[in-house]
Amino acid sequence: MSLRNLPWLVLGAVVLMLVAAFPLVASGYHLALGISYLYFTVLATAWALFSGPTRYISLATVAFFGIGAYTVAVVGEVLPWGLVLVVAALVGVVVALIVGLSTLRLSGIYFVIFTFGLAELIRQLVTWYEVNVHGSVGRYIFVEISRNAIYWQLLVLVLLVFAGGWLINRSRLGLALRVIGEDETVARHAGIDTTLAKLTLFAVSAAFMTVTGAIMAPRWTYIDPTIAFNPMLSFQVVIMALLGGAGSLFGPLLGVVPLVILFDVLSAYFPNYFSILLGLVFILIVYGLPQGVVGLVQKHWPRALKLQAGTVPVAARAAQPRSLLSVDRLRKTFGGLVAVDDLSFRVEPGEIVGLIGPNGSGKTTVLNMISGALAPNAGHVRFKGRDISGASPFKIARLGVARTFQLVRVLPTMSVAENVLASLSHRAHPLWGADAERAAQALLERVGLGDKAAMFADQLTYIDQKRLELARALALEPDLLLLDEWLAGLNPTELGEGIALIRSLQDSGLTVILVEHVMDAIRSLCGRCIVMNAGRKIADGPPDVVLSDREVVSAYLGEADA
Ligand code: ADP
Ligand code: MG
Repeated sequence: MSLRNLPWLVLGAVVLMLVAAFPLVASGYHLALGISYLYFTVLATAWALFSGPTRYISLATVAFFGIGAYTVAVVGEVLPWGLVLVVAALVGVVVALIVGLSTLRLSGIYFVIFTFGLAELIRQLVTWYEVNVHGSVGRYIFVEISRNAIYWQLLVLVLLVFAGGWLINRSRLGLALRVIGEDETVARHAGIDTTLAKLTLFAVSAAFMTVTGAIMAPRWTYIDPTIAFNPMLSFQVVIMALLGGAGSLFGPLLGVVPLVILFDVLSAYFPNYFSILLGLVFILIVYGLPQGVVGLVQKHWPRALKLQAGTVPVAARAAQPRSLLSVDRLRKTFGGLVAVDDLSFRVEPGEIVGLIGPNGSGKTTVLNMISGALAPNAGHVRFKGRDISGASPFKIARLGVARTFQLVRVLPTMSVAENVLASLSHRAHPLWGADAERAAQALLERVGLGDKAAMFADQLTYIDQKRLELARALALEPDLLLLDEWLAGLNPTELGEGIALIRSLQDSGLTVILVEHVMDAIRSLCGRCIVMNAGRKIADGPPDVVLSDREVVSAYLGEADA
């Protein structure tokens, strides 16, 4: 901690003391308002911990909040208060894991609707239980906790949620979540266990929400499911977080400050129109300020990022006795279409193998099955002697298979350096901190992006985006690299550079499968090439031989632009 931070620390401590002393001087109304500020700050910040980076908009906030309140109603009188909060957090985590496992496969609007439905479902279940088992809809809460104590407990929770968010933002997990938000497919192929990352954060976020509900419960002396599970709360939280900016730790707080007052006024003066007004505010914010206030500021004030210079540690590659990759009788169908049919081939260590064929002949589908993006319908993929058929992309990536995409995929609103850190930090032997930064800089220099580390990836030219994709693939320290038309769309100079770059990879021991339409590149790079047509292999051999084969020529001539 440097001396430069001292004034901020002192200021923070003073503000914190003032906030903590507030209940001692506040009137009843102002204390209630203070409590609202604190609990919405926790809820909106916790919501943004998960939804900010991943961009999964959850409307399940009230489900967890209500579960917390009910935990107090049920066990509040029999357990000591501290234990009640722990039980609430645990119940929240368990429900979050169950919900997460069943919903986090969904994305976009389906996820939003499902989480909304989930909150309703839980309300219905609780209502059913209360009526049929407990015998009455509502419960009285006889836990004696003063309003001051509620305020202070919430304040501690605010500090915890900020501390937690601060730690997560600086961790590999935080980076992983942002990569997921940018492009989940890329995340998987960068070695990120996306399910685990999402579940972890969903559960952490839910724990904060549940504990908030538990702390707030004694404020009501009586609760029933319509009070505890009021869906309006979920919407309010989303609006607050989005207004401030869900992408940064203190963004939601910026939204909480004006909106707690606004919602308070609206519900006091226009109780009958509250939901409609809430909807209007929601739409205004989503369309007017999609990145929130913080996003607005960052757009005019982009952050700079400096990496340390470094070299790539090159691992000595032991000679491998058997084929690096063997593909046996692979088959993939889409509905009635057979995209890959009974395909077998082997790739030996150190080779550059061309995989060519007319458009639609199944090349990308083969790469997808090797890298785990698609599971084969039949057949096997073996890599370093292990059967990886149908394994998750992140596992295959960590084993040492890296890929690029036919349509270039960078993480657009992350920096060039972070694009590379994504896989550096999640490969089999992950790097983090200064080591990772050095390695990232070295990789960027290797592909010719040494001076662009701090740029956002979507500011790069097309060729530079392709270079970046390659750097991200190389960051996995792969043994096998799958390039899907990586040279397509380059001008003659760039093509020459690209070919030289791929050759330099082979020189450092990498094995490459090159899907390519540029025949000059195939001739100059590949020792061997495999030709596909309509999902089947029609030739396998040295480029010169294969490219003059009658069947190959006619397969290509069948295509207008071949
Ligand atoms: P190539 O890369 O050789 O151009 P692809 O592997 O992309 O060929 O496609 C092979 C065939 O499979 C094409 O007919 C394509 O339309 C079809 N195909 C590829 N991916 C899918 C998918 N996800 N769903 C349905 N059909 C697909
Ligand atoms: Mg393709």
